[in-house]
Amino acid sequence: MNHLEARREIIAACIDMNRRGLNQGVTGNISVRVPEGFLITPSGMDYGEMQPEDMVVMHLDGSYEGARRPSSEWRFHRDIMVKRPEVGAVTHMHSMFAATISCLRKDIPAIHYMIVVAGGNSIRCAPYHLYGTQALADAALAALEGRSACLLANHGMIVLGPNLKKAMWLAVEVENLAAQYWRALQIGEPYRLTDEEIAAVVQQFKSYGQGGAGETPRCC
Ligand code: 13P
Ligand code: ZN
Repeated sequence: MNHLEARREIIAACIDMNRRGLNQGVTGNISVRVPEGFLITPSGMDYGEMQPEDMVVMHLDGSYEGARRPSSEWRFHRDIMVKRPEVGAVTHMHSMFAATISCLRKDIPAIHYMIVVAGGNSIRCAPYHLYGTQALADAALAALEGRSACLLANHGMIVLGPNLKKAMWLAVEVENLAAQYWRALQIGEPYRLTDEEIAAVVQQFKSYGQGGAGETPRCC
């Protein structure tokens, strides 16, 4: 079997996202870029029972290999892999707070400086479309323009990364931002950081952490 390590990494990430409360049941899906195209989780399978051979190898034309049917959301995974060459991993989750904000069809505004890790001064919410459709994929791609994360109205979130580890890290940050926004809305109208304040955060992150500019937490 090819890409055994990547297959195992996807299964571990699926179990991890449910354990952390970022997703539940068989919803959500993950893909990782490979030379043939990408590996993607099978549709509707229990993460605890998934085996490496259950991962589906998909080509960028939408054809696939293997015994399992790919995630019903393969279209947005495929389109992201085609249109965003810097992306190595795509995650989709029905996390509680991101999904809650998505039910209001609201973008997450710049209420906390960590918003910049998703690539800008907001996390957009894509308009509602039926799951698994090309219309949803098109809306998601538009909402992801210049960003590494978006919400999907009345559904959940999509989070990207140069690799799966960074995408999972960013998913936790996005869910945290959604939770902060939700909580702040309970007691008032949160202040929003200005474009100048956001620009200063981006500048500050260039020397954040241990390794200088390369260590900026912005993932892609
Ligand atoms: P799959 O089980 O087909 O990946 O679908 C889950 C989901 O989250 C659909 O949006
Ligand atoms: Zn979904």
